[in-house]
Amino acid sequence: MHRDILYLKGKYFLFILVYLFLIPVQTSAEQSLKPTISIIIDDLGYTLEEDLRALSLPGPVAYAILPHAPHTKRISLIATQRGKDILLHQPMQAMEKNQYLGPGALTLNMTREEFLKTLNINMSNVPNLIGINNHMGSLLTRHPGHMQWLMDTIKSSGQFYVDSLTSNYSVAAKIAKKNNIPYLTRDVFLDNRQNPEYILNQFKELVKVAKRKGSALGIGHPHPSTVEVLSQVLHNVDKYGVQLIGLKSLIIKQKNRKQYAQGPRSSGTGL
Ligand SMILES: [Zn+2]
Repeated sequence: MHRDILYLKGKYFLFILVYLFLIPVQTSAEQSLKPTISIIIDDLGYTLEEDLRALSLPGPVAYAILPHAPHTKRISLIATQRGKDILLHQPMQAMEKNQYLGPGALTLNMTREEFLKTLNINMSNVPNLIGINNHMGSLLTRHPGHMQWLMDTIKSSGQFYVDSLTSNYSVAAKIAKKNNIPYLTRDVFLDNRQNPEYILNQFKELVKVAKRKGSALGIGHPHPSTVEVLSQVLHNVDKYGVQLIGLKSLIIKQKNRKQYAQGPRSSGTGL
């Protein structure tokens, strides 16, 4: 009798042990199969209250901060304290509306020396950045020479580039790829109109792209309507059949997918 109980206890113990080992394997397998979305909030540094509200969005949302705004340093530090990913939101010359570039912009008429000096000052103004994305830039991102200067700096700092894709003629991603620099490109702008219904539809579009491609990257701004909609949907992101992941995880995911698509014998360099 006593022996039987010991035997049963041993059997259950073994069962529980196997079960505990199986759960994490199953969860990570499920997670890797799930489509993923990633989100960047751009243009931070000017509106403290709105920026702080944006920083309270749940999950690994990334924040792109302008280099010479009144609250640049404060927002970078608060974002760091909250464990958020930070990008330098680098102003670059656009085809039009260049009055919105703000200080620290990179422009076509700069010499290489002026370009690199401006970029380095901007990078040192945003503590704890892990990458760079462009603010505006529909003109500058078309120019391979200037994009090469940009990628030289990103490469030596070990960071990555996110092409906000403000122009369909941008060569930024192509130049990053050529230089073997990790890069991402924007799929959906979430809030070209500050209307909750529009923003929710754009979020649904992001989910749709993620389900088609496996992952999708959205860009929004710290407008109250954007933060309100994102706060609601991100708290219930499972409901949409996607998982929210950070930018570094997205880079790894895209790299793995490309290597898989290229086959095991490929060198698989770049992204
Ligand atoms: Zn911007």
